[in-house]
Amino acid sequence: MDAIQEVTPEIQKRIKELRQLLQKASYAYYVLDDPIMEDPVYDQLYHELLDLETRFPELITPDSPTQRVGEKPASQFHSVRHNIPLYSLENAFGKDDLVRWEERWRRIAPDVEAFEYVCELKIDGSALALTYENGLLVRGATRGDGIEGEDITQNVKTIYSIPLRLNLENPPPLMEVRGEAFLPLNSFQKINHEREQSGEPLFANPRNAAAGTLRQLDSRIVAKRKLDFFAYTLHIPVAGSHQVEIGDGEVQLDLLANQAEIQSEHIPTPDTQFPVPHTQWDCLELLRAMGFKVNPERKCCSNLQEVQEYCDHWFTERHNLSYMTDGVVVKINSLALQERLGFTQKFPRWAIALKYPAEEAPTVVERINVNVGRTGAVTPLAEMRPVQLAGTTVSRATLHNRDRISELDIRVGDTVIVRKAGEIIPEVVRVLYELRPPGTQPFEMPTHCPECGQPLVKPEDEAVTRCINASCPAILRKGLEHWASRDALDIAGLGEKWVIQLVDHNLVHSIADLYDLTVEQLLTLERMGQKSAQNLVKAIEHSKSQPWPRVLYGLGIRHVGSVNAQTLAEQFPSVEALEQANIEIIASVYGIGNEIAQSVHAWFQNPANQELIHRLRAAGLQLTGQSKPSATQAEQPLAGKTFVITGTLPNLKRDEAKALIQTAGGKVTDSISKKTDYLVVGEEAGSKLAKAQTLGVPQLTEADLLELLGKVVDG
Ligand code: NAD
Repeated sequence: MDAIQEVTPEIQKRIKELRQLLQKASYAYYVLDDPIMEDPVYDQLYHELLDLETRFPELITPDSPTQRVGEKPASQFHSVRHNIPLYSLENAFGKDDLVRWEERWRRIAPDVEAFEYVCELKIDGSALALTYENGLLVRGATRGDGIEGEDITQNVKTIYSIPLRLNLENPPPLMEVRGEAFLPLNSFQKINHEREQSGEPLFANPRNAAAGTLRQLDSRIVAKRKLDFFAYTLHIPVAGSHQVEIGDGEVQLDLLANQAEIQSEHIPTPDTQFPVPHTQWDCLELLRAMGFKVNPERKCCSNLQEVQEYCDHWFTERHNLSYMTDGVVVKINSLALQERLGFTQKFPRWAIALKYPAEEAPTVVERINVNVGRTGAVTPLAEMRPVQLAGTTVSRATLHNRDRISELDIRVGDTVIVRKAGEIIPEVVRVLYELRPPGTQPFEMPTHCPECGQPLVKPEDEAVTRCINASCPAILRKGLEHWASRDALDIAGLGEKWVIQLVDHNLVHSIADLYDLTVEQLLTLERMGQKSAQNLVKAIEHSKSQPWPRVLYGLGIRHVGSVNAQTLAEQFPSVEALEQANIEIIASVYGIGNEIAQSVHAWFQNPANQELIHRLRAAGLQLTGQSKPSATQAEQPLAGKTFVITGTLPNLKRDEAKALIQTAGGKVTDSISKKTDYLVVGEEAGSKLAKAQTLGVPQLTEADLLELLGKVVDG
């Protein structure tokens, strides 16, 4: 059992802080249609509050944001009471939440053996409740706080995908349809462009633009904005009324709260001609038949595995849709089972919304450190309370440079928003100043290197601050780690742990010193055993046989990554040839620009580097290789072939793969067509993969590509 926790003043303070912030955000989002924070940030803060309230239920107050469905509507339209409340949806943030949800509903209905789920895209727009009397649209209302919304019938009538009259011969006397009004992305961009031109504030996202548009007092403006609508819920009235408890009061309902009730035996169907739906799927089909637009991407799944596959697919594919979605809604298909499960105070128990993994999240800065890199660049880093982002735990984020720090005014103790999208290194994008604790101090970038104590330099034209002391231990350590790394000299066992000690014990002052190390010297390092020392000496010795391109890469010359090193080594078959080449000659190599050429040239001019090359030569490193004459177009292995790259490749960056293909005479384009010869596929491949499969375009992995290029595949 959990130990009983005491309510501390810190907890009370945090709860108060979170409530104030969430209330402010919620008002800005629902009433002003002008959010002050990103949705995933709101969700995380909300869950932090929910967690605290679950642990300390005595602190729950009726006005807590966790106790309500939405916001009271603004006053410009007539308020209308919803016949059936518009519930919110429980959120799931991953597979575990889905599993727990299934366990929960199955505890309520343990005898149910066969069931299905309907997966629908969660359209990021604004919910509408539409009332039809005898097939005629009589009312359109916003969701408001779920109990009361605003009557926006005039505006709703401007949406062409909402039928004014249902396509039914014998419509029921009363019917309610729910769905999402949204702005397609191209309309959203057009509206914002026009607003920019006329100096009006821009809408933060299509959802706000849709919600703001629906609540325009002038319907002519609404009509111009081209809203669209997907229907997803059908309620059909039956005789009698229904009591449902919501929030702190009871609401009288004229319609039944659940579609399922229409099939109960004792209740007559509304119209003999009207087909009776038994499932959510039937409802969607019926809505379509009645003239509504129903999202075509829906899917019926027979288990959570299939649900997860659907979600995974749309997590990447959503970027190819012409409208915004913010997750997937999973609903139990059987209406009878839905009715049996019913509702909690806020949510239906038979549905859940799986949100896309957040790429941004709030966390707290615990320390700010500065890190000195291989090139001497000094980067401030925020050390933060660990947070889950895009599927990984993040506890450090770059603050880039001095300018960024002063722009953000980030301080230890601040709550910040961190972002990690795709391959990008996590970064701090914003500070939530509202949550700043008292007594914090602005962060000052150090004026001296934290490693060697020498003054730091900030060149006028660069944002970066640098340590320019060539013997700075931090630069030396990073340089050694790079030299030993897998793509460079690949010295097994020479990781950060030993590098730190080698430098601290003054055993190594330069890369070349590695080749003088003895087993006896290594044994002086803490926790170094005889066997490890022997292995390390052997691995260092072995690195002498690594080919010239790897040595060149290992030198860590700025802008010379593994691909550029390979290209240069092919054109300059020895270190001497490269040393003697001037900038123009280096820059004339295909794929090598002026900036790279300047950097390479400057490196070889530096006497300390010349000394290093001299010592490496004496130690027996491979400083010559096979020259490769510039290939003519016909000799280039990929001449005339067109490639498309999708997803994240295991080793090569997109640009590197592109450069390799181009150097070999191939062409890289962005979109797949019948003319594409190969699709290079990495992890999390997008829609291009599906298209390639449809068109029968052959696929290559990174290893296949390298093989095609005649490169040795590592590992
Ligand atoms: P929700 O986003 O949790 O989910 C319910 C809504 O989903 C429904 O009302 C409906 O409009 C919509 N929906 C879309 N497609 C659907 C489908 N196929 N089937 C059923 N419903 C579908 O709704 P909520 O309770 O209005 O809002 C909570 C969310 O709003 C939060 O999770 C947060 O992301 C956002 N929010 C953000 C801020 C902010 O400051 N950014 C403030 C308040 C709320």
